[in-house]
Amino acid sequence: MLKKLLVANRGEIAVRVIRAAQDLGIATVAVYSDADRDALHVQIADEAANIGPPAAKKSYLNVANILKAAADTGCDAVHPGYGFLAENADFADACAGAGLAFVGPSGDAIRTMGDKVAARSAAHAAGVPVVPGSLGRIGSIDEARHILIDTGFPVMIKAAAGGGGRGIRIANDLAEFEAAFPQAAAEALAAFGDGGLYMEKVIAKARHIEVQVLGDGRDAVHCFERECSLQRRRQKVWEEAPSRALSPRIRDELCASAVRLTRAVGYSGAGTIEYLYDDEADRFYFIEMNTRIQVEHPVTEMITGIDLVAEMLRIAGGEPLRLRQSDIIPRGHAIEVRLNAEDPSRDFAPFPGTVSALRVPGGPGVRFESMLYAGYTVPPFYDSLLAKLVVHAETREAAITRLVRALSETRIEGLRTTKPLFLALAKDDAVKANAVHTRWLEGWLATHSSRLVPELEP
Ligand code: ADP
Ligand code: ADP
Ligand code: MG
Repeated sequence: MLKKLLVANRGEIAVRVIRAAQDLGIATVAVYSDADRDALHVQIADEAANIGPPAAKKSYLNVANILKAAADTGCDAVHPGYGFLAENADFADACAGAGLAFVGPSGDAIRTMGDKVAARSAAHAAGVPVVPGSLGRIGSIDEARHILIDTGFPVMIKAAAGGGGRGIRIANDLAEFEAAFPQAAAEALAAFGDGGLYMEKVIAKARHIEVQVLGDGRDAVHCFERECSLQRRRQKVWEEAPSRALSPRIRDELCASAVRLTRAVGYSGAGTIEYLYDDEADRFYFIEMNTRIQVEHPVTEMITGIDLVAEMLRIAGGEPLRLRQSDIIPRGHAIEVRLNAEDPSRDFAPFPGTVSALRVPGGPGVRFESMLYAGYTVPPFYDSLLAKLVVHAETREAAITRLVRALSETRIEGLRTTKPLFLALAKDDAVKANAVHTRWLEGWLATHSSRLVPELEP
């Protein structure tokens, strides 16, 4: 078992990881930038180390400073959370090189599955259907023209190193493709340090369905699927488990394909295999793997009763998988919404500031994952996620009712948040019927967003 864990992250996920470690009796070290001296993760960890100025490049992405903090505090392990260094293969290798257990897959597994083109090849080789498109990186526009004969339009041009909904462009015809291709390459190079591109046919009106997996390098299990079709700018805003859209047969196939791929790459730790599901054709297609814990992991925890972060820590400590597939039984329905410091009535403009008062929702089936406390000032340097509200109930209908109840209890005074968006979505007929797809929310926002004015409590 691990003895002392450095958590190389901030915000709600640092809090989440520290809690899981403490529940297992593992000592914890928080790291923080100069902007995060008062942060909750610093307060609840057993120790804390400053790793530099507010800019992430100088602190949360500063490998040398993080490794020095781990050495100075006598840690034997590092959990990267999500974002920042979580999918950085060189960081995983650097941890291993410094004698630290990296709580995640090996650097080589990150290289294979974190590169979206390499992952497509691995999926294809494991017999998992991929979206029609280029087999590898696209070398030139000439090469792309040949592939476009098969895929047709519209197509997506995607960055091999993309993530977080960034590095994706749509082309509706050859002229658009030829104009977008060099721009996409330059943008990908600037944003991700890698200009590599690939392309995929656009699957219209698809759902985003993903499968949670756990592996120990030898064996793998799945913890069923999540549906994350409600997205804005290709970022998830509302996630649930299980998906109402799947038949038992397609669910079995989807989850079996995820386990096959996890085993094929000798994956160790928690991961998510993302797919698009086309209801009409009743077909699913692999899109990518996230080789880390995901933002929306709690919905899976709520329906399975598994603490995924604790399992990650056990696996990184060298324990074989404790869970057999037959032990993992889903119960009820869970929904998560992302409460961001953004004003949904003003195109989701960021709204950093100070939380003057806080009322946290509670009661049966309610979980509030957050780093907020009354008096906390949200720094402007990082992402805008304030809290994840997660509800669980016997049925999807009951979970939506409970979501409205818990949202109504929640008061984050002093900030504008995305709460009105979720109150409105929970009452929408299409959402209630789960008659949605990945582009649905953007259409809905075009007509509804002006009415989503957040209250600003004094
Ligand atoms: P999830 O799939 O867990 O919902 P997201 O795709 O929303 O995760 O990303 C989680 C976090 O990681 C976000 O803060 C996002 O901005 C960040 N992120 C993910 N991939 C990258 C990347 N390649 N470059 C920069 N940030 C990323
Ligand atoms: P990221 O690495 O940024 O998470 P993904 O490849 O997972 O990027 O795609 C993000 C989102 O973009 C998906 O959830 C989906 O909404 C949309 N998307 C991606 N690929 C396709 C596709 N081939 N057709 C239609 N929508 C897609
Ligand atoms: Mg994705």
